[in-house]
Formats: sequence, structure tokens, C-alpha cells
Amino acid sequence: MAADPFGERSLVDAQRVRVEAIGEPGQRRFRLMVIADGDTAIMWMEKQQMQALGLALNQMLEQFSTDSLDLGRGDVPIDFDADTRRQFRVGRIELGFDEANGRVVVIAHDINSGDPDEDGEPAARPFACRLTRSQAESLSGSAATIVAAGRPRCTMCGAPMGPEIHVCAQQNGHLPIPYSEIGDEEPF
Ligand SMILES: [Zn+2]
Repeated sequence: MAADPFGERSLVDAQRVRVEAIGEPGQRRFRLMVIADGDTAIMWMEKQQMQALGLALNQMLEQFSTDSLDLGRGDVPIDFDADTRRQFRVGRIELGFDEANGRVVVIAHDINSGDPDEDGEPAARPFACRLTRSQAESLSGSAATIVAAGRPRCTMCGAPMGPEIHVCAQQNGHLPIPYSEIGDEEPF
């Protein structure tokens, strides 16, 4: 029997995974939800973390051939427990590859878990689970969609607009007229 490269006997398969954004545009909060062993874990993260997670999963999927990754089943239809007590803010996320089982391993560390070397107390155990290729693909795709969805789109060209000034292709690169120059004598 192959040794578990992560030395985690308790490493469990995710039964269901999802990433989502909560709240209004501009004030969205991002989270990764996982059901493993029948229990829901909710990991809150920054938008940049979600973007990085999606990209890293995508890279990992490209890195390992379809042969070496068990396609596996998709999600099991169990409802997420949105009120689960197992919720934390993510400080660091690691990805690994469980070669023996052909699974992507996700390890999420609580931002508040202490460094084990500092005060002698063991750090809180990070959340760790295994994903099938289907689940990893689904997460990667959803993360990209969610991250992009928060950006308003230009009504002229449809391109997502960031904090920088948008130079619109549909206006031959001319900047849109600033609102203040439109005139403030409009009755509305
Ligand atoms: Zn535009």
C-alpha cells in the first residue's frame, strides 16, 4: 500500500464543494464551502485569494494528465449547512497532489491559528480534504466566474472595468466624457 504523502490518515474526500460571493458588488465576501464526512466547513477569503485558488487549481489540472487524476464522481447532493460552526478566515491555502488516489488536496489554514514555533502551542489543525478532478475543475471555473462578475461592465464594449480609467474600444480609445462636464443644469 502506497504511503500517504501527506501523513494524514484523516484526509477525507470532499462530498460537495462550492465557491461563492456573498453581498452586494463592491462589498462582496468570498467563501469556499466544503462538505466532508457529512459536515460543512466554510472558509472565508479575500477576492484575491479566491482568484489565486482558482488559478492554482487550473494550473494543477493542466500539470497532471487525465490519466493520473481520477475523474471521480462529482458532487454528492447534500445540502450545505450555512450555519456550521466550522467557519474561519483563511490565511494560507496549499494545494497538493495525492498521487496514490489521483486527487487534488486542498489545505486551508485558519488566519488566526498560531505559529507552532512561537509559543510552544500546537497550531490549530488546518482544514484538509481531497477533490476529484471534476470537483477541482468546477471550483476553478466558478472562482474565475465569481471574481470576474464583481467588475462592472462597460455598456459600450462589454469589457469589465477595473479601478483604472477605461479606454473604450468602441469609442476609438477616447475616454468617456466625465459626468462633471456633461453639465449640471439638467432638471433631474
Ligand atoms: Zn468600453
